[in-house]
Amino acid sequence: MKITKDKVVSIHYRLSEEAGKELENNRDGLPMAYLHGHNNLLEALETQLEDLEKGDLKSVTLQAHEAYGTRKENAVQRVPIKHLVGKYKRLLPGMVVKVNTDRGAKNASIIKAGKFNVDLDMNHPLAGKTLVFDIEVMDVRDATDEEVQHGHAHGPGGHHH
Ligand code: ZN
Repeated sequence: MKITKDKVVSIHYRLSEEAGKELENNRDGLPMAYLHGHNNLLEALETQLEDLEKGDLKSVTLQAHEAYGTRKENAVQRVPIKHLVGKYKRLLPGMVVKVNTDRGAKNASIIKAGKFNVDLDMNHPLAGKTLVFDIEVMDVRDATDEEVQHGHAHGPGGHHH
């Protein structure tokens, strides 16, 4: 069965920077399940996975503009600590935190932390980076009507609710 719209696809992946530094992988855990064709992954990545089948391996390189965008200068904002999502024991430069914005919660990295405010770099932590995804397709199945309605995969490796 090929990967097309409305298939639930389970993948193992390894994400690294072009230079080779590994950022994350799920190869030792449960494959991630996503519903194809519903913008659950980066669009350029989904396009590259189209028509693959169970057992296929593919290395996909995405330029920054296809992944998390280019870095913007002047993206530094001073934000009250109470606007951060979740609790942090210590706030240190370089840490990635979630912050509430008028466009929802976003990832940002700390440049400087004070007592009440933090200076955040609002660029996505992966902005400006060329990324390499090494993908192994572990399974492809038809989505249920409910999954298509919800726009995401259910069950192991997918959404639970
Ligand atoms: Zn759902």
